[in-house]
Amino acid sequence: MTLRDWMIKGQDILKEACIEDYENDTRILAMFAFGISYTDMFMKITEDMPEEDADFFMNCIDLRSTHMPCQYITGSQEFMGYEFGTEDGVLIPRQETELLVEKALELTSDMKSLKALDMCTGSGCIGISYELKRRESGHKDDEVHLADISDDAIYVAQKNKYKLGSGCSIIKTDLFENIKDRYDIIMSNPPYIKTSDIDDIMEEVRTFEPRIALDGDMDGLSFYRRLATEAREYLFKDGILVMEIGFDQYEDVKKLLIDNHFNNISLIKDYAGLDRIVVAYATEHDY
Ligand code: GLN
Repeated sequence: MTLRDWMIKGQDILKEACIEDYENDTRILAMFAFGISYTDMFMKITEDMPEEDADFFMNCIDLRSTHMPCQYITGSQEFMGYEFGTEDGVLIPRQETELLVEKALELTSDMKSLKALDMCTGSGCIGISYELKRRESGHKDDEVHLADISDDAIYVAQKNKYKLGSGCSIIKTDLFENIKDRYDIIMSNPPYIKTSDIDDIMEEVRTFEPRIALDGDMDGLSFYRRLATEAREYLFKDGILVMEIGFDQYEDVKKLLIDNHFNNISLIKDYAGLDRIVVAYATEHDY
């Protein structure tokens, strides 16, 4: 059977399984299973495929038809131009989270050397890409720490650190419990979905992504509450807190930040026009 035949077969199975983006997903899995590039896919479309690779391709298609996200099948997701390993137990890096890293880079661009913390790091995508981008722009003396409570996250972040040649340190901790330092910037994409909403999110996320990375308790705000209360103690004066939020959480998160004496609070919308990133400054300081 030719590549075209296999792809048609793959698409039919995914369409039948109600996978919305079945054409694109078939392409991604074909490139992965047959070890070919995007251009190869067109060049080799009439070639017969080796049986072993075709078996592997069908395994991938079968997994996708259970609604397992492509990124858990291929084991990777691009983020900020870097290829991050993704596996069970960590959230797949999201495109909208790149905005958080871009904003953090922009706000710290004139700081020569700094200390940064990625709290609730998961795959490590925020902290690692922040550190690598800073290094590429000539800032070689930063200290970047990644923190997470989950052993799975620590393991995946560690693998990504080595894979991408990052110099981050990784700390296992329940929020600030084992954090000893102060930072110029704390970045975080904490779990922020209301427990009662989790059953309504798409199957790919609900069944396959880790609940611990999604569940923000009853009102979805429990991590913002803890971050707002505790983060100032771990920031230098004028330190920056940058967090990703859910589309309807800005007013609540802003209030929590104001109540905890953060200043200059601002909001950045994502490409879909939804509220997404909050920035706040620890200008009033208590040492
Ligand atoms: N944005 C994620 C989603 O769409 C949620 C991430 C989070 O809870 N931090 O599922």
